[in-house]
Amino acid sequence: MRDDQPTPGSGLEAFDRHHVWHAFTQMQEYEPLLIEHGAGAWLVDTAGNRYLDGSASMWCNVHGHRHPRLDAAVIAQLGRVAHTTNLGLSNPTTVEFSRRLVEIAPPGLEKVFFSGDGSSAIEAALKMAFQFWLQAEPPQPARTRFVAIGEAYHGDTLGAIGVGGVDRFTAMFAPLTFEALRLPSPGGPCPHSGRPAPSLDESLAGLDRILADHGNSIAAIIMEPLVQAAAGIYVHPSGFLRGVADLARRHDVLLILDEVATGFGRTGTMFACEQEGVSPDFLCLAKGLTGGYLPMAATLTTERVWNAFIGSHADRRTFFHGHTYGGNPLAAAVGIASLDVFRDERVLDSLPPKIARLQEHVARLSRLDHVGNVRQCGLVAGLDLVADKASGTSYPWQEKRGTLACLAARRHGALLRQLGDTVVLMPPLCITLAEIDHLAAAAEAAIREVTDQ
Ligand SMILES: *Cc1c(COP(=O)(O)O)cnc(C)c1O
Repeated sequence: MRDDQPTPGSGLEAFDRHHVWHAFTQMQEYEPLLIEHGAGAWLVDTAGNRYLDGSASMWCNVHGHRHPRLDAAVIAQLGRVAHTTNLGLSNPTTVEFSRRLVEIAPPGLEKVFFSGDGSSAIEAALKMAFQFWLQAEPPQPARTRFVAIGEAYHGDTLGAIGVGGVDRFTAMFAPLTFEALRLPSPGGPCPHSGRPAPSLDESLAGLDRILADHGNSIAAIIMEPLVQAAAGIYVHPSGFLRGVADLARRHDVLLILDEVATGFGRTGTMFACEQEGVSPDFLCLAKGLTGGYLPMAATLTTERVWNAFIGSHADRRTFFHGHTYGGNPLAAAVGIASLDVFRDERVLDSLPPKIARLQEHVARLSRLDHVGNVRQCGLVAGLDLVADKASGTSYPWQEKRGTLACLAARRHGALLRQLGDTVVLMPPLCITLAEIDHLAAAAEAAIREVTDQ
């Protein structure tokens, strides 16, 4: 038996600390925090402390917690059925959600493949792109490679880390993964690599070279459009997405856009790719897909891709891939309700003043002595903590100032999540202007505290 000291309450904190293995968390240093309930943009822990949900519960909450329409949608679906498989059969709710997604997706994305989380949506896109070329007319079996962007993040499963490039997460697993062709990110700067980001023209010229040299062996290019979230909120120069899409078309390479983080309003439009008029061959969605309520992901693709998989059973063109809970009707029901809220509450129209208010705060915070580069795209911002502002010198990473800042923010009533020494502000879209002020004040107090100002 364990010899944990009894803790106040039910002993759950002790069990959490010693038995529950948390994601991306050094368990030796983990301090339990148990959220008991929430409403709107706020979460409340078991001791009754209130926190603004400044990371949208890891970037997925959209309309707030316990939104009446989302809650009602789950309850109504429970009155029908909680789960049925989508292997070889379906249910009305999931079909209706597919129809709604196709309606709002960029033109040409008419086919919907469901899975359980963002990484799975990426795996499905990678495998579909690979299999597409095997079954294309004429077949091009040499197209086995992928081009990915520097510091890309596409999830934590092995295929996803093969195209990922955040080395501190993935380098040790290199022997287990395939190697992508890598295009340095024009976002940034790149605080982790210490080199300046290439310009827009250099990046696109670099991609043109990769495609000219290796085009016939490349299945697809994969990227996060407009902003690379987990890299450290790297915002691409405008025109990069358009340029990549044009080069992909010219070299007849498929384009996979990972909108797991950017989808559902985060950048100010429903999908980030709309802002540069790009329709990819694959669109990967997860996080905000169900308003942040239930795990669900979708890989949308085109008729051209779909057709390469069509044939009789004997033709062996089937996509032999699936996840047990893919297309789960409870998740689909809340996904429909989330799209209803987007429409009926005019959520996208409500964003410009919120984005502007966040911008004002970010500009103010950027003047703090130990805040270096800052970046924002829509309703997400990243603030780099630096030891020396003039030279941009980082803190020694072992000091984990970013982590300390986010822990300090809790004492000021906000839950934040860092990326290295980058403090990230990514609230639910439902946040009010006053709540944005609160979030920024908490971030400022926390940053001052951990940078001795
Ligand atoms: C979170 C994320 C993923 C992975 O999604 P999971 O649901 O955590 O597997 C993939 N791509 C991007 C851009 C993400 O932000």
